[in-house]
Amino acid sequence: MMAGDSSQDPHKERSATVYWVILAVLFVFAIIVRRFPFADNEARHVIWEFISTTLALIVGSLSLVRFYSKKQETFLFIGTGFLGTGLLNGYHAVMTSGLIGGGSTELQTADGAAWTWTASRLFLSMFLFGSVFLGSDESDSEPSHAQELFVYVLAAVLTAAFFLVFTFFPLPPAYHPEFVVWRPAEFIPATFFFAAWVGYIRRGDWRTEPFKYWLLISLMISVFLHGMYMAYATSEFDGIADAAHLLKIGSHLSVLAGLMISVFVTFRSEASALETVRQTNLAMAREVEVRAETEHRLRDFLDNANDLIQITDAEGSLAYVNRAWTATFGFEEEAVKGENLYSLLRPSNRVELETAFRRLAEGGSMERFISELHTGDGDPVICAISANCSRVSGEVVAVRSIIRNVTETVMAERELAGSRANLNALVESTGDVIWSVNSDHALITFNAAFALAVESRTGFEPSVGDGPEDLYPSDQAIWFQQAYDEVMRTGRLSKIRSEEMDGELRHLELFFSPIRDQADSAGVVVFGKDITRRRRAEVDLVSAKNEAEAANRAKSQFLANMSHELRTPLNSVIGFANILLKNKKKNLKSSDLGLLDRIQVNGNHLLGLINEILDLAKVESGRMDLELMTVDVGNLAHEALALVEGQIRSRKAEVEVRVEGPETMKEIETDPAKLKQVIVNLVGNALKFTESGEIVVRIEINEATGQPTTLSVSDTGIGIPKARLGAIFEAFQQAEAGTTRQFGGTGLGLAISRSMCRLMGYDLTVESEVGQGATFKIVFPSFESSGSPSETALQRGSQRPDGEEVEPL
Ligand code: ADP
Repeated sequence: MMAGDSSQDPHKERSATVYWVILAVLFVFAIIVRRFPFADNEARHVIWEFISTTLALIVGSLSLVRFYSKKQETFLFIGTGFLGTGLLNGYHAVMTSGLIGGGSTELQTADGAAWTWTASRLFLSMFLFGSVFLGSDESDSEPSHAQELFVYVLAAVLTAAFFLVFTFFPLPPAYHPEFVVWRPAEFIPATFFFAAWVGYIRRGDWRTEPFKYWLLISLMISVFLHGMYMAYATSEFDGIADAAHLLKIGSHLSVLAGLMISVFVTFRSEASALETVRQTNLAMAREVEVRAETEHRLRDFLDNANDLIQITDAEGSLAYVNRAWTATFGFEEEAVKGENLYSLLRPSNRVELETAFRRLAEGGSMERFISELHTGDGDPVICAISANCSRVSGEVVAVRSIIRNVTETVMAERELAGSRANLNALVESTGDVIWSVNSDHALITFNAAFALAVESRTGFEPSVGDGPEDLYPSDQAIWFQQAYDEVMRTGRLSKIRSEEMDGELRHLELFFSPIRDQADSAGVVVFGKDITRRRRAEVDLVSAKNEAEAANRAKSQFLANMSHELRTPLNSVIGFANILLKNKKKNLKSSDLGLLDRIQVNGNHLLGLINEILDLAKVESGRMDLELMTVDVGNLAHEALALVEGQIRSRKAEVEVRVEGPETMKEIETDPAKLKQVIVNLVGNALKFTESGEIVVRIEINEATGQPTTLSVSDTGIGIPKARLGAIFEAFQQAEAGTTRQFGGTGLGLAISRSMCRLMGYDLTVESEVGQGATFKIVFPSFESSGSPSETALQRGSQRPDGEEVEPL
């Protein structure tokens, strides 16, 4: 067994080699010492016994100290064994020393000495034997007080028993020279020691425990000192007995060494354990520091989070809230601790929220649960709550929630949904078709009117993703594709389409607008308006206008023809009246001549009237041609005044008539006869309605170009009421009802003048105040280049009112 064990790690466990060596030495030494004659020496024996007694008492005491400090039962047996043996050994020492009684007692004989020796050794061997089988090393199997007391009582009883036996009973002979073994009683302790030795060897803990290792050495020595030494002693103090005494000291020293070494090992391991504890403490202190720091940082992190964070227990009692939480709900952090979440924040959907938390506690999840909570002031806060639980052995100990304030988002979403619904209603309620396509021309959205139109054309309902080829015949599909591409490239566009619908030609005005996605066009939205009725009305209007114009032209034509037809006979009436007025035959009475004069005057009046009507009719029927030439407006004005010279002279009152204008001016291209006719008409009116004062023909020019800009005729006459300023340009209209009576005239002059001016590309305007006179102004167009007025007029007439592109119907 020992050889097998020695194969184990020598550094960790002790080897049995030493035992073999000691065994061999003891064996050899026993043989040698037996043959070695020693003189009996009583004094030497006393020294040996004194030493061994002292050692036994020390070992016993230390073992008990060890027992009381470590509570290992083994040491109770060893301690009491050594103390008992110490007492008995001391008794043996005293008895054999000759100090008491001078060798008179029985115990002081050789037999007595032998028995007291054996008794002390037997006592120890029995206790060591007992320590193997009765004692336990386990410190947690601490002996009860009763067991402890039993051991002490046993030791005391045994010790006392030995003393009593020695005192009261006659001792048998210890030496038996008749045997090979003179002291056979020595085999009894030897047997106990050997049994103890076997027991401890079997335990095996000698390899790891230094005390057991040394105890085994002691036991081994004891076995030998009894079985191989003392058993062969022939006298009290012979050599072999001496050797046995020395071995006894050796055996005690071994146990003492074992105790010391084990104490040393214990101290050392405790010192290292202490160091380990110190290191552990330091590490823990650091750990605590790190944790505190981590917690501080974590708290800081949580406090700086935008989201609201809270920790509650399973019932909803608040244990922690971060800064965003307190800021949002308006509570102090300390004030909310321990408060119930539901009663504090009064969720609108409390039942649902409690159910959600309960499900979470039962193992479910809680993600973005929307709840309307309330601040301390009662303001609603719409929150998205996500939470999880921390559990200890299945029990929920904390519920951690991250709450996001989504009030603004939810409000915006609600508003968006509202306006979307509004927009949808709007789009749906209109009878116009509305749809949109993406950049690939696929249908994205459309309203009911669009769906209806498609269905009536194709027989099926349109759906999102349909392309133009699904919705229209191929030629129309191409038309739409081109339109979409053009809109995405260039921007807004409007087109008019005519389509055969339900057997009827319908006109659609389509407004295309690009859908802008940042810089790119993401698609096109189209708004289509049915303009069939408007189109028809427009066509009707144009034809009505054409008809009216044709009728007007016919009227003018008629008038022109009629005037011409009327003038011829009237001229002859006037001519014949003229001839008769001359009264060459002198056969006419003065009353007849008066009648003839009336015929001539009225005839001339009628002729003037017819001429004017003819002029007006010519202009309006477009039959008046312009004879353009380049003239000086100043000269033209003077020529016009010359034509009314007679009229001016015939006036009774003094009226000054003059032309004002710059010395030099550029000539203009005009029809001089017609312009002169207009000026004559204006000056004639001025003369007619001006009693006295002045009449000024004024020419203004553009300084930069030198071109005449206006020619005005101003007078200081009766003036025209404001309300009539527009009417006087219409045919047969005069300023006042009594004008013809008072001043004559037909009300055609200004109408003809304005028509002629417009024919030439001019405008004719008037400014007047009653009693202050009037100013009539011919406004010439401003020429950028040397274009003729007729060309300009033509350009103006050709201007279209709008630039809209119109598809041919
Ligand atoms: P007539 O002179 O033949 O009546 P016109 O067309 O030339 O016809 O003029 C229309 C009317 O305008 C005149 O009847 C007169 O009432 C008013 N009128 C024209 N010129 C003047 C003027 N210079 N001062 C005041 N009234 C004027």
